[in-house]
Amino acid sequence: MKHRLFTPGPTPLPERVLRRMGSPLIHHRTDEFRRTMDHLHHRLQWLFDTSGPVVPLTSSGTGAMEATVVNLFSPGDCVITVNGGKFGERWTRLAETFGINPQEILVPWGTALQPEQLREALHGAKDPRGVLLTHSETSTGTAIDLKAIAAMVRKEFPGTLLCVDGITSVGALELRFDAWGIDACVTGSQKGLMTPPGVAFVALSERARKAIELSTSRRMYFDLRRALAVLNSNDTPWTPAITLLQGVDEALDMMYEEGLENIWARHARHAKAARNGLAALGLKLFSQAPSNALTAAWLPESVVWKELHQTLQTRFGITVAGGQGDYAGKILRISHLGYYDDLDMVTVVAALERALILSGFPATPGEGISAVQKSLSEIENTRTP
Ligand SMILES: *Cc1c(COP(=O)(O)O)cnc(C)c1O
Repeated sequence: MKHRLFTPGPTPLPERVLRRMGSPLIHHRTDEFRRTMDHLHHRLQWLFDTSGPVVPLTSSGTGAMEATVVNLFSPGDCVITVNGGKFGERWTRLAETFGINPQEILVPWGTALQPEQLREALHGAKDPRGVLLTHSETSTGTAIDLKAIAAMVRKEFPGTLLCVDGITSVGALELRFDAWGIDACVTGSQKGLMTPPGVAFVALSERARKAIELSTSRRMYFDLRRALAVLNSNDTPWTPAITLLQGVDEALDMMYEEGLENIWARHARHAKAARNGLAALGLKLFSQAPSNALTAAWLPESVVWKELHQTLQTRFGITVAGGQGDYAGKILRISHLGYYDDLDMVTVVAALERALILSGFPATPGEGISAVQKSLSEIENTRTP
């Protein structure tokens, strides 16, 4: 059976990435690897839209979040964290773990943080050193208006470090690191970067680099001072995940060929098709501010998640994601993040309508995919990979 991943991490691997990672292993302290690192770094700067450093780390995305917290802040600092789901909550837990004092804004799952809420929290906090938030909250399929929020922070709280979890937004949603005045932005290889899990990246502003020098936090493996000191010579402090970095390098070449604006447009088009397809099947969308990286919808009451998940996997080879936390068993999440084309959207909705019918839900065969096709036809087709 063909296996098809529709999960918001890990995401499917392009054939080009697989082939590149299949070459014989090279050593990392060589000119050959340094050339790859140099090329990769230029591409990463292009991806984040920054002229500053983007540090590679050998870890999943959470490692880059931890690196951000321990390097930019010191024990006793006050930061604002935004918890609108499982990943926002992770910023809070990380801050607490390292003795940093998080003032948490609790945002109901499926709704987006508003600039006014953040402004109020920043005014209410005593000397807030940073804001830690999630651009695309993967547990709820919700995106915030990062541009507006960043503009508010930069204008009204110029010294506050704006740290963004961009793990399901980088390479899917518009994000302009320098122009929007972001200080740290993290992403991981297994999301928009279409590569297996294991490497993560953090882009850093000049303000962030100054904070890194001043931080009194204890750090060793994730000490960004060490990484920054050798980044210009295309080196890493420890053995890097050579093969994965080659994979990311290839994925970024593919992305560069497609063009950032085209990639964002493709994600928007697929998100719209997925939303329309699910709605046509009679499913209610979960998020009030849906992200273009994935679509979350309520499961019909009569449908048992475990059975639906099982049917999708065994009958159609399709893996979708379920709900997390309080929403386990209540929602499903379909990814359109990374290596997807128009027909993938038809496929996933086709499988879903069949699986729903098999579970006894009164969907009509063809109704979901018809809505997907209509939606895709309406929007002018930009290039797909
Ligand atoms: C996947 C994800 C993470 C966590 O990444 P890991 O690679 O599992 O450590 C963090 N934030 C968001 C928004 C994610 O989607």
